[in-house]
Amino acid sequence: MNIELLDDKPHENCAVIGVYNHQDAARIAYQGLFALQHRGQESSGIVSSDGHFLYKHLGIGLVSDVFSNVEIFKRLKGHLAIGHNRYSTTGASGVTNAQPLVVNSKDGPLAIAHNGNLINSYQIRQELEAAGALFQTTTDTEVILHLLAHSKATHIIDRLKQSFEKVKGAFSLVIATRHKLIAVRDPYGFRPLAFGRRGDTWLVASETCAFDLIGAEFIREINPGEILLIDESGVSSASFEPRVTPRKCIFEFIYFSRPDSYIFGHMVDKIRRKFSRRLALEQPVDADIVFAVPDSSNTAALGYANTSGIRFEIGLIRNHYIGRTFILPEQSERDFRVRVKFNPVQGVIQDRRVVMVEDSIVRGTTLKQLTKLIRRAGAREIHVRVSSPPIRYPCYYGMDFPTQQELIAYNHTVEDVRKFLEVDSLGYLSLEGLLASVPDSEKSFCCACFDGDYPIPPERVREKSKLMPNFIA
Ligand code: SF4
Repeated sequence: MNIELLDDKPHENCAVIGVYNHQDAARIAYQGLFALQHRGQESSGIVSSDGHFLYKHLGIGLVSDVFSNVEIFKRLKGHLAIGHNRYSTTGASGVTNAQPLVVNSKDGPLAIAHNGNLINSYQIRQELEAAGALFQTTTDTEVILHLLAHSKATHIIDRLKQSFEKVKGAFSLVIATRHKLIAVRDPYGFRPLAFGRRGDTWLVASETCAFDLIGAEFIREINPGEILLIDESGVSSASFEPRVTPRKCIFEFIYFSRPDSYIFGHMVDKIRRKFSRRLALEQPVDADIVFAVPDSSNTAALGYANTSGIRFEIGLIRNHYIGRTFILPEQSERDFRVRVKFNPVQGVIQDRRVVMVEDSIVRGTTLKQLTKLIRRAGAREIHVRVSSPPIRYPCYYGMDFPTQQELIAYNHTVEDVRKFLEVDSLGYLSLEGLLASVPDSEKSFCCACFDGDYPIPPERVREKSKLMPNFIA
């Protein structure tokens, strides 16, 4: 039995990278994708341009699987490249839907890579198909390519503006033509997108951790509603409608982005620590040790320990080498999949009152199995502290949450969840505490998965259910 390991985290959506003016642009894009692997592990791809043709290489798997031999880079010629790591939130998994996508337009080939989710892609797709467009994939991203290819405007910026008048939702994009690299962020700015340089080479990436690996410096973020164009004339910027108050995804700080990245004007690590310091003040407990559910909660557990004065320990060891699937024994116990991934350190846990810090709870199923292991390792008391509020609503902007009914905090009180987890106490960070931890956060963040206040009205969101019937609660 080769079964996907139990995983109770919302999945990251995707990562994008763009490189302009480097003799080996595809290799630089590859390095960036490597640093951005955490945002998508299903497929990876790079499209490059030498000014005459676009060259493409895509595949299923991790960056290291897809780009496993140097010959690939000999074929990915040129000074310009865009790349993508994918976790599918719309359309099926598979190499057909791997990105960057490429289409031929009247001005030559265009390639696109997308982080986010469009919420009205079904409707646009129907209109385009009625007008004769032939779609090659089931992704929402392809509608942008077709809108661009169908636009009658002469300049690429005007064609982009016309296209973005139609699409709604979350999109941080990199687009390549034979001569131009273009970066775009939707008016709400749901997903991060950073702009940087290394010498004469310009770079765009989902997170700044990609620049660190490449040895590039961060210049600034691409603004919500901005189109950044890089070509032989230099760098130019334009903006597009509608003008709205940005609603950046607060979950990027909680879990999705790497702690060593700088996004939305802040270092992720700093904000994550603030969440957990506040959590320690809001949800104190008398205990002997604090430990994290590794790795995503490491920073949160440190912050909780520092503020509470309770000793930080390594209470759980995570196996990093199991990949996405594992051949399970025929008669495996229910908690086997969790044991494959985590093992409690008995010497640390035995006879202790423990605080286990987790960054978020989605279904709660993995955490329940984990608490059983910790109890079996001899913990006297188990107190779970969560550095985000209860998740009660699904995300429509590019994060893969389960349906609303599957979210444990939907229709269940904190006490219900505590009983389900079979722990001595459970405490979440409040929404007020979450927002108070991010400077200038008032009204500039999306918190819809916690409070149901969707920046783009749910009537439009429902259109998406026609494309993905299983996605909508
Ligand atoms: Fe982020 Fe939640 Fe808003 Fe989705 S609903 S964009 S995960 S804050």
